[in-house]
Amino acid sequence: MKVESNWEAAPLRYAGVATLLRRPLVNDPSGVDIALIGVPYDGATENRPGPRHGPREIRNMSSFTRSVHHVTRMNPYKLCNIADLGDVNFSNPFELQQCFTDITAFYRKICAAGAVPLSVGGDHSISLPVLRAVAAERPVGMVHFDAHTDTSDHEFGHKFTHGTPFRRAMEEGLLDPKRTIQIGIRGAQNSEESWQASEDAGIRVMFMEEFTSLGIEATLDEVRAVVGQGPTYVSFDIDSLDPAFAPGTGTPEIGGLTTIQAQALIRGLAGLNLIGGDVVEVSPPFDPTGNTALVGATMLYEIVCILADAVAREKNSQKNV
Ligand code: MN
Ligand code: MN
Repeated sequence: MKVESNWEAAPLRYAGVATLLRRPLVNDPSGVDIALIGVPYDGATENRPGPRHGPREIRNMSSFTRSVHHVTRMNPYKLCNIADLGDVNFSNPFELQQCFTDITAFYRKICAAGAVPLSVGGDHSISLPVLRAVAAERPVGMVHFDAHTDTSDHEFGHKFTHGTPFRRAMEEGLLDPKRTIQIGIRGAQNSEESWQASEDAGIRVMFMEEFTSLGIEATLDEVRAVVGQGPTYVSFDIDSLDPAFAPGTGTPEIGGLTTIQAQALIRGLAGLNLIGGDVVEVSPPFDPTGNTALVGATMLYEIVCILADAVAREKNSQKNV
């Protein structure tokens, strides 16, 4: 299907039914280049919950997003068909494994239709069942923004939590640790296990202090050196940001990225071979001003811009073959 722009149809941003980035809501992924998908699941959260409400509130705050980027002057919606595919529906929201199965099944259909998925969580555990679909045919690299590595072996004996998705993804051959970089890592842990696990696996772990001394451009050079031109996933945990900018999240850690740093870092990923991404851990119940969801919607827009660029380049290269 051709996804029509809804900007002309609904010029009043505060009116109408809220959708992700104000894109048309569709059921069928055929003809969609980039599928925006809500994953309202937070059953694998260890501390403060709430990101199950993330997709709905990011749809609401998407009312503030517009189309033409102020730095690049690009309009992602002119480059690609981008639609809101709605939320993953859970057959039993109390059963974690069933929820993961439902997520993977949903994304298999998206991938089979040739659409690139960009997800809104949900807690960070959702990245694992998403990668089971996105990386089914080969392991992918990843640019991961987070205060935490999320590579613990378990939390309280449980193997599937929002602190473990990338440990499982490596074990399942979905994630290539040698092509993965984690940026913004910080905050005391009760042991070094989660940091050590990433480093032992060969992930490039960039703690916040190193990022601060390197700066944005040198960090982006490092990102490009690590992930190269292989297929690369972008995972953006909102707690990578300082809680001054994004307080509404389950595991806040002070001393984080500013919003303008994160925007510049995401923008700097243009040119990579991007095959999907997510924005996770926005928790509206802990976000009394709504600012965290606004930040989440805006980061979603930044990611959609670089994804649209990547998808358009891929389409053009196929045309020229
Ligand atoms: Mn995380
Ligand atoms: Mn985190």
